[in-house]
Amino acid sequence: MTSPRQQVAVIGTGMAGLVISYILRNDPRGRFDVQVFEKQDKLSLDSASHTLTDSKTGEKSERLDLPMRAFADGYYESLRRMYDYFGITYGSPRFIYALSTLSNAQADPYFIHSSNNHQLPPLRPNGLSWISWLIEVCYLAVCYYWFTACCFFVTPHTAESAGTEETLRQYVDRIRLPQYYVANYLLPLMSSVTTCSHEALMDFPAVDLVDYERRTFRQKHYTVLGGVHRVQTKLSENLTHTLGAKVTTVENVGTKVQVTWTNIDGQSNSRLFDHVILGVTPDVVGAIFQPLRTAMAAVPTAKVQSVVHRDFSRILNASQSIWKQMSWGSGESAPQPIHMCSKDGATESIHEHPSSALITTYPIAPIDPEKVEYTATFTRVLRSAASRQIVNRIFGRRSADEKSQLWRNGDGNVWLVGGWCWDGMVMLEGCLASATRVANALDVEVPWMKSS
Ligand SMILES: Cc1cc2nc3c(=O)[nH]c(=O)nc-3n(C[C@H](O)[C@H](O)[C@H](O)COP(=O)(O)OP(=O)(O)OC[C@H]3O[C@@H](n4cnc5c(N)ncnc54)[C@H](O)[C@@H]3O)c2cc1C
Repeated sequence: MTSPRQQVAVIGTGMAGLVISYILRNDPRGRFDVQVFEKQDKLSLDSASHTLTDSKTGEKSERLDLPMRAFADGYYESLRRMYDYFGITYGSPRFIYALSTLSNAQADPYFIHSSNNHQLPPLRPNGLSWISWLIEVCYLAVCYYWFTACCFFVTPHTAESAGTEETLRQYVDRIRLPQYYVANYLLPLMSSVTTCSHEALMDFPAVDLVDYERRTFRQKHYTVLGGVHRVQTKLSENLTHTLGAKVTTVENVGTKVQVTWTNIDGQSNSRLFDHVILGVTPDVVGAIFQPLRTAMAAVPTAKVQSVVHRDFSRILNASQSIWKQMSWGSGESAPQPIHMCSKDGATESIHEHPSSALITTYPIAPIDPEKVEYTATFTRVLRSAASRQIVNRIFGRRSADEKSQLWRNGDGNVWLVGGWCWDGMVMLEGCLASATRVANALDVEVPWMKSS
């Protein structure tokens, strides 16, 4: 006797939705029919990326990945395994981070750091005397190694270990990290990873950042060669999808789960499934799935923009002085400067892409609209002490004597996947970890985890 194939709906085609639908479609026992819903008119993983137009010929040229979607050894084990499984190649670009304060219209770096210290000695910012620069480098080295040592030896308090969750603000206070270092180095660099304001970052659970620092310490960072669309192509082979379908409700009806969506033309449709997997951000989960409405309101999110443009006015001087000092071997690709400009508790990053376009993420000062080629807006999921506990409860096991009514992952055959659906920084690895969790619960083999 063969049991009928189970009908599964996956909502969202970001990394998480595409990964779980790939795993289920390729179940060695062939038990699942997977239908994917996406509100945009194209698959989403690569949807914000942009193909540059040559200003002279008008022809389409290089593809820019937006967001860049970098990953690192030590933190992204499942992601790397998946890329290796698909034969996706990745490289380790060398970045030059120029840190500056935006007091006037021009970025004026106070420190220039090269990724993995590939540029030694560090470049000296224009206008900084040798003495001032040496003092800054020594001060920075002391603070950096102190912070790193604390990450390894001073464990942050968590709700599990101490009954309360320690925020980054409380942790840097406890380890007596100097304010100057926090404001000028730690927050600008980390907030460019989390793409949020310094205030919001200070509210993150300390354990997230300490764990990230510990696991990526002295590790290489990578980006996918040829663009993340290669990953999307692999993950979406033989995918059955409904594009332009905005899901409006997901609800349990008897033993089934009903998905209701509207088409581009506004027409409403419903269908019953055996399982529904939500691969959407928590604000959307709260809006379409009633049991999590209250819980999701406590998970912070923010809108973030990435702008592709050619307005060099802000970084002109800094850029010229960096390029003058930089050196690289023949056969090596040129390093890529990223200007991190801070103002009023926020940091924008301006990436000098090899194509000579600029990509500003989280802009904090105006960009000449005439020189803007493209803008993409993302929902960034943030972390807080309260949201960490909610996320951990949703994905934790229910104890036998527990009275809590809080909905748990898998209740009523509804599942959650996404960058935010794990106990860590909201990154691509969370997509893989949460998809693997659903696969394990449904007893499906994850192809790239086979040899582990
Ligand atoms: C600016 C920025 C930079 C980042 N940089 C990095 C980085 O360098 N490295 C890294 O690891 N991570 C990075 N991240 C985080 C990472 O990109 C995300 O964690 C990850 O892409 C989330 O994927 P997801 O599949 O969970 O969700 P999403 O990619 O948000 O996908 C959700 C999907 O659901 C769809 N959807 C929403 N509502 C509905 C609805 N009602 N009906 C149907 N479909 C719907 C959306 O259109 C979308 O396709 C960055 C994020 C941002 C914003």
